[in-house]
Amino acid sequence: MYAPYVLFGYAITLSLVLIGFVVVRRSMPELRGIRPLSMFVLLAVISVFLMTARDQAPALLTVALANILLLIGPLYFYAATAEILDVRTRGIRWLLALCLAGISTEFWYSLVHSRILVRLLAHGIVVGACFAAASSLLFRNSDESTAIPARASAWFAAVMSALQFAWLSSPWLLHTSPSFLHPDPVDAAFSYLAMVLALAATGALVWLSLCVHRGELQRIAQTDSLTGLLNRGAFEVVLSRDVRRCQRSGATLGVMLIDLDYFKQVNDSFGHAVGDRVLRCISTALVNRIRPSDVLSRYGGEEFVVLLRESGAEEAQSAAERIRADIETLEDLPEGLSLTASIGVAVSLPGESPDELLLRADEALYRSKREGRNLVTMYRSPRRGSAVVVLRP
Ligand code: GH3
Ligand code: MG
Ligand code: MG
Repeated sequence: MYAPYVLFGYAITLSLVLIGFVVVRRSMPELRGIRPLSMFVLLAVISVFLMTARDQAPALLTVALANILLLIGPLYFYAATAEILDVRTRGIRWLLALCLAGISTEFWYSLVHSRILVRLLAHGIVVGACFAAASSLLFRNSDESTAIPARASAWFAAVMSALQFAWLSSPWLLHTSPSFLHPDPVDAAFSYLAMVLALAATGALVWLSLCVHRGELQRIAQTDSLTGLLNRGAFEVVLSRDVRRCQRSGATLGVMLIDLDYFKQVNDSFGHAVGDRVLRCISTALVNRIRPSDVLSRYGGEEFVVLLRESGAEEAQSAAERIRADIETLEDLPEGLSLTASIGVAVSLPGESPDELLLRADEALYRSKREGRNLVTMYRSPRRGSAVVVLRP
C-alpha cells in the first residue's frame, strides 16, 4: 500500500470536515468550542497534506513539521472540550509541557538522529494524554441534559487515547520497524481508525456544544432577567404539571399571589432604578422564606406567585401570613423605604384546572386590595365569588 495515496484520501475527508466547521462558525458564532475544534481539524489537514508530499519535499516539512502539527492538534481538542463544558483547564499546563517535550523529541529524532520508534512512542504519549484528559473532563462534567453527547464524545476520546498508546508503542514493544511509505494493512487500518475516532469525538463535541447552547437558551426563556426567578410562562408549565399530578394522586396544592402595594409610588418617588432594586430585595426575601419544594416566580411587574406543593389550606394560610409579615418588616430595602404586600391564596379542588385555581387566587388577592391592602385573603369555598376569608394581621 502506497501511503501518500491513502493520506491524500484522509486529507480530502478532513478538508470537507473543515469546510463544515467554517459553515457552523459563520452560521452559529455563539456556539462554544467551535474555534478550537476548527484549529484541531485545520492542523490535521495541513499535517496530512504535508505528509502526502513526502517524496517531493524536505523532511523538515513532511516529517518534522507534519508530526509537530499532529502533536499540537489534540491540545486544541482538549481546549475545545473545556470551553464547551465551561470548566477551568488546569490540566492544559501539563499537556503543554508534555507537548513541548514531544516537539523536541520529534525534532531531535527526525532531523538529528532518525529514530522512528522513539518518535512514535513520544507521539503516542502526547496525543494519548490529550485525548485521555479530554475524556476525563467529559466523564466528570456532564449533567442530565448533556449526558448522551458528553458520554459519546468521552468514549470516542477514551478509545482514541487507548489506540494511540497501543498502536504507537506496539512497534517499540514488538521490535518491528514500520515503513512509512509502505505501511502494512494493520498499520493502515489503525491510522484509518484513529482518523475516524478523532472525527467521531469531534462530531460528538459539536453535538454537545449544541446541547449546551440549547440549555442556555432554555434557561434564558424560562428566567425573569431582573430577579433571576422563573418567569410566568415557565411557572404555568410547572403549575399545569403539578395540578395534573395532584388530580391523579388526590393531593392538594396551594397557590399564593403576592402583589406589592402602591409600588407605582416607589418608582414615582425614588426612580425606576430603586424600584428595580426593591423588586430584587423582595425576590431574595421570598426565596429565603419558601420551602425548597415550593416554586416561586415573578408573575408580572410587581407581582409574585408561589406554588405550595402538598399544602392544605392551613399550611398555605400560615405561609402567606409569614410572607406578608416578612415584607412589612423587611429591613434591607434601599433608602429606608418600607413596603407592604397584599396576598391572595387558593388551594386546589378536585377536577379544577390550573387557570381556575389561579383565577380564585387572583380574586382573593383583589379582595385583599379592596379591604385595605397589607392583608392575606384565603379563598375557601368551591364556588367562586363567595366565602373568601380576609385575614387581618
Ligand atoms: P396596588 O397597591 O393597587 O397594587 O398599586 P400599585 O402601584 O402597586 O399597582 P399599579 O398596577 O398601579 O402599578 C404597578 C407598578 O409597578 C407600575 C410599574 O411602574 C411598576 N413596575 C412594574 N414592573 C416593574 C419593573 O420591572 N421595575 C420597576 N421599577 N417597576 C415596575
Ligand atoms: Mg399589580
Ligand atoms: Mg401593586
